[in-house]
Amino acid sequence: MSFSIKFWGVRGSLPSSPPPTVWAQHIEGVLQNFFSSGHHGAHQVSSYIRGQEVPVVGGYGSATTCVELNYGNDQIIIDGGSGIRSISERILKGTAPRKKGPYHIFMTHFHWDHVIGLPFFVPHFIPGEEIHYYAVQPELESLIRGLFKKPYFPVPFEALQAKIHFHVLEPRKPIHVGEFKVTPYQLDHPDPCWGFKVEAGGKSYAHCVDTEGTRVTQEDLGADLPLYQDIDVMYFDAQYTLPELAEKANWGHSAAQVGLEIAFREGIKRVLFAHHDPGARTDHVLELRRQTREYYESVARALASNNEQIPTVEWDFAHEGLEIVLR
Ligand SMILES: [Zn+2]
Ligand SMILES: [Zn+2]
Repeated sequence: MSFSIKFWGVRGSLPSSPPPTVWAQHIEGVLQNFFSSGHHGAHQVSSYIRGQEVPVVGGYGSATTCVELNYGNDQIIIDGGSGIRSISERILKGTAPRKKGPYHIFMTHFHWDHVIGLPFFVPHFIPGEEIHYYAVQPELESLIRGLFKKPYFPVPFEALQAKIHFHVLEPRKPIHVGEFKVTPYQLDHPDPCWGFKVEAGGKSYAHCVDTEGTRVTQEDLGADLPLYQDIDVMYFDAQYTLPELAEKANWGHSAAQVGLEIAFREGIKRVLFAHHDPGARTDHVLELRRQTREYYESVARALASNNEQIPTVEWDFAHEGLEIVLR
């Protein structure tokens, strides 16, 4: 059985897409590249586009945090940002991998960008469906009920057709959903925010968004250190550059270099950076990626001068729609 992870929303703070004029300039750049790299005919367009990395042509996406994890017939969803609408669309079309609930939604915290899609999650309105919400925050039920309230939303919670259950989690205590074992650990964010370590079939995923990563050493991380240990894929907050991180202390978001440091030390196999700033256009995220590569190479050079090897960490910046399968 494979453990799959799909990122339906990777933007932070607010759903945001570059304005049409910026997209027009972007398309101009793509077309120039097409012709200047020796392509000339309409028949070459598809193979050219498929030969490029997705973000280089299509950007990083507009939707906010929502991650779907599947293992066999088991599914969990982490966070209900605007990306959860894509799961709704799939449910309405009745397509695989899941046509029916129950749905299990784990909430890291309740900032707008992590809840904004929930009122539009269609199973809420389907008789016979079941939705289970999980969070460490004891106010879970009242916070979810508050999303379905006039004048912010036309359908009150009491009118929802699905059966909705609430599960308040104990910090650092695992809960099982089918084959999934999910354990909440605290992240570094202004309002309490809980990351999740998700394990199934000997594979593991660490959801570390939103976090500033103010605690990096093993001593500082203390009881939350296991979130970063024995991890195949870590999803880490990299909204800022390093200078921005210094400027925006206590804003609750981090930089890729911080995530890489943790990954090197703990032997994390793969890191995906996300929570892209709402103002960050494609070029900006590509520049963050370039700076991260520069940092990675500088660490490799420093280690090589001591006859040491850089730990192998595969990393990239996540784009909306990215799917990873762990086998
Ligand atoms: Zn956020
Ligand atoms: Zn937040």
